[in-house]
Amino acid sequence: MLPNFFDSVVSLITRTSTDLPPDVRKAMEMALASEERGTRAGQAMTIIAQNIDQAASCEGPICQDTGMPTFEVKVPVGANQIWMKEQIRAAVAEATRRGKLRPNSVDSITGENSGNNLGPGTPIIHFEQWEEGAIEIKLILKGGGCENTNAQYSVPATLDHLGRADRTLEGVRKCILHAVWKAQGKGCSPGAVGVCIGGDRTSGYLHAKEQLFRTLDDRNPDPRLAELEDSIMAAANELTVGPMGFGGKTSLIGCKIGALNRLPASFFVSIAYDCWAFRRLGVRLDAESGAIRSWLYREGETPSVPLLTSEAASAGFPLTGREVRLSAPISEDQIRALRVGDVVLISGPIFTGRDAVHAYLMKNDPPVDLRGGVLYHCGPVVVKEADGRWKVTAAGPTTSIREEPYQADIVKRYGVRVVMGKGGMGPKTLAGLKESGAVYLNGIGGAAQFYARCIERVDGVSLMEFGTPEAMWHLQVRDFPAIVTMDAHGNSLHQDVEEASGAKLEAITPGLR
Ligand code: SF4
Repeated sequence: MLPNFFDSVVSLITRTSTDLPPDVRKAMEMALASEERGTRAGQAMTIIAQNIDQAASCEGPICQDTGMPTFEVKVPVGANQIWMKEQIRAAVAEATRRGKLRPNSVDSITGENSGNNLGPGTPIIHFEQWEEGAIEIKLILKGGGCENTNAQYSVPATLDHLGRADRTLEGVRKCILHAVWKAQGKGCSPGAVGVCIGGDRTSGYLHAKEQLFRTLDDRNPDPRLAELEDSIMAAANELTVGPMGFGGKTSLIGCKIGALNRLPASFFVSIAYDCWAFRRLGVRLDAESGAIRSWLYREGETPSVPLLTSEAASAGFPLTGREVRLSAPISEDQIRALRVGDVVLISGPIFTGRDAVHAYLMKNDPPVDLRGGVLYHCGPVVVKEADGRWKVTAAGPTTSIREEPYQADIVKRYGVRVVMGKGGMGPKTLAGLKESGAVYLNGIGGAAQFYARCIERVDGVSLMEFGTPEAMWHLQVRDFPAIVTMDAHGNSLHQDVEEASGAKLEAITPGLR
């Protein structure tokens, strides 16, 4: 029965996780060209471009968060969907074993990670029958950081900076712009949005995510929605949220809108935000053998054209000479000398910690000495090599705001000097950094391959019972670049960009009736 089906699905997962499709590359190329090289936005875009090229050349995950695998499968009438579902699940487990997917399926009651991306609701597989003879499988990998910035509005609604959003296309426009503004750098901008106007709460979100299967450069066949998409793209890129929320010219690389009928009493606008690591591909399979007959979204096996020239790629991180070099243990004086906007290169030991570690540290002493240390919000992809040593294959920062309730306490209690993650943190942490003499560094979200190359070795691991992404990894790094976005003097770049972009949101003139 379809002897090549399993291998075809493993190939689809591998390519999707490691190589962005041409339409996304084209949009990212334009975003890269739009930012000046010496600026924070320009540096962020250069790292992102390097990361995209590195991932494709080594077949490593573009981002360490390989997301929720979501398959849309079309099958000829009479195909055995039960068997296909089992094969897709087995292919997901195999791709996880090969390090192309991070183990991402967590029991919501016990917190236990299944270790193979299988579990209730994981992966998501939707089947549909069609009249054609081939099998079509589309896959999207959308990570947690951008998933958390999804939004659903029930209009009429009153929105910050925009006032009332009515049940009109102008009201829909306001909701979408509000969602893009709210996402800031948390969803790893520049991103793209899939939108559904109408439906119910469930179908609205589903249809919004389905819009992300359209190519970024297509044209909406409905002229009213095409006009709305154009209007959103123009207005969103006026907000100057910029790459990673650092301020800059490109905040959005795509806006795709669909509509469903609704109940008379309801009017939902559902928005699925996807990050720059917009991993989406598809294949058409022979219905007899399951072999790949053609790829969707890309030209077959043709290698992707790198975003950077080989000189730019080998130049590495674009240094300006003003970077500050830090190595743990870091003193309070070194930290208080830093200001928002400084670029820091970290060398020496750092420790990863995200949700489970922070919950643990609120009740227990740390398994390592964190005094003067660097706590990195990161859930890496780590594989055990033949000689038994651990190797990090993807290690970008995760969204930090989830640790907001705990961070200031942990910094104070254990003497942490540097917290590093992405998307910034809130007022409680900002006050805590000032009180304790610590800083927040923003890494480039999703730059998992770039940062993996800054890790010299894994010295150990604690709290492995939380699963690979949630464990505390002891890493030795060299010249690990990040930007001070919250300093020990009460300054926050995130606050500044949010306020400035909020003012721009207020100034946006109505675009539609
Ligand atoms: S690029 Fe950012 S938002 Fe996207 S999956 Fe990676 S960490 Fe999450």
